[in-house]
Amino acid sequence: MIPDRFEYYAPTTLAEAINLLQQHPDETKVMAGGQSLIPLMKFRLATPGYVVDLRNVPHLDVLQERDGSLIIGAMVREARLESSALIRQRYPALLDTSSVVADPIVRNFATVGGNLAHADPANDHPAMMVALRATLLAQGADGQRTIPIDDFLVDTLETSLKPDEVLVEIRVPQPAPRSGAAYCKLERKVGDYAIAAVAASVTLDENGACTQAGLALTNVGPKAIRASAAESFLTGKPLNDETIREAAKLAAEAAEPGSDLRGPADYKRAMVRTLAARALRRAAQRATGSIAHNGNIGGGVA
Ligand SMILES: Cc1cc2nc3c(=O)[nH]c(=O)nc-3n(C[C@H](O)[C@H](O)[C@H](O)COP(=O)(O)OP(=O)(O)OC[C@H]3O[C@@H](n4cnc5c(N)ncnc54)[C@H](O)[C@@H]3O)c2cc1C
Repeated sequence: MIPDRFEYYAPTTLAEAINLLQQHPDETKVMAGGQSLIPLMKFRLATPGYVVDLRNVPHLDVLQERDGSLIIGAMVREARLESSALIRQRYPALLDTSSVVADPIVRNFATVGGNLAHADPANDHPAMMVALRATLLAQGADGQRTIPIDDFLVDTLETSLKPDEVLVEIRVPQPAPRSGAAYCKLERKVGDYAIAAVAASVTLDENGACTQAGLALTNVGPKAIRASAAESFLTGKPLNDETIREAAKLAAEAAEPGSDLRGPADYKRAMVRTLAARALRRAAQRATGSIAHNGNIGGGVA
C-alpha cells in the first residue's frame, strides 16, 4: 500500500513545527517515529496533506530526573528506554513496558510520545502512565500547558492535544521511598498488541500499608482505564494475598472488554484479574526490595 500524496516538512525548531501546524491545522499530522502514523497512511486510514516530522527538532530527546520528576522527552525512542541505566535502576516498570512494545525494529523508531499521542487503547504506555500519574507538557502557539494523563487520554485515538500543539515531554513523579511499579501484559505472540495488560504502582509506609496505589488497564476499553475502585480499596491497607485478590477483582470489574480475534470478553476480564494480581505483587516486591529493584522480570505472563 502506498500513502496518498502529502507534503513533508522536517523543521529544525519547535517554533517552526508549531508554525507549520498552524497553517493547516486540520490537514497536518505530526510524525515522530512513524510506527503508527505510516501504517495508517499506507492503509489510507489517515490522509494528511502535510506531515511535520519532529526528528530534527532539538531537545525533545531528554531523559533525566529533574525537579522531582523523570523527564521523558516526547522523541525518546523505546530502544533508548531499554538501554538506559537510569530507567533500569529507578523505573523498572517503564522497562517492563517498553520491552513489550512490538519488536526491536519497531522500538528503534517508535517514541514514547508517539505511543501516548496515538491514544490507541492497545498501546502499552498509556496505562503505565495512568498508574504512575504522569503529566504531559504540550506546546502550541499559545504557549505551554501541562496536562494530567487522565485528561490527556480522551477516547480511542483521541487526546486533548489541540491541532497546533506538540507533545514536548512526559513527567513521571520520582518514586517515593518504598515505591514500586510493574507492567504485566498477555499477548498472543511476542511483539503483538496486548490481549490485556495491567500497570500497577504502589507506595507503602513503614508498616507495609499502601499509602498510594495506581492501577490501570490496557486494551480492555476505549482507552487506558484507571481502576479507581481498586486504587481506593488498596489505600490504607496492607498488600497481602487477600487485599490483592480483592483489588484484582475490582480491576476486572472496571474493564470494558469487547470480544474479538484476541478472545471473548469474559476471557479478557478474567485475564485482567490475573494480571492485576501479578502486577500488584511485583510492584509490592519492588517496593520492599524483595526482588532486585532493577530485576528483569519482563512484562509477560510468567
Ligand atoms: C508491527 C507493529 C507492532 C506494534 N506493536 C505494539 C505494541 O505491542 N504495543 C504498543 O504500544 N504499540 C505497538 N505498536 C504501535 C507503535 O509502536 C506505537 O504506536 C508507537 O510507539 C507510536 O510512536 P511513533 O513515534 O512511531 O509515533 P507516530 O507513528 O509518528 O505517531 C503516532 C501518532 O501520534 C502523533 N504524535 C506523535 N508524536 C507526537 C508529538 N510529539 N506531539 C503530538 N502528536 C504526536 C502523530 O501525529 C500520530 O497521530 C506497533 C506498531 C507496529 C508497526
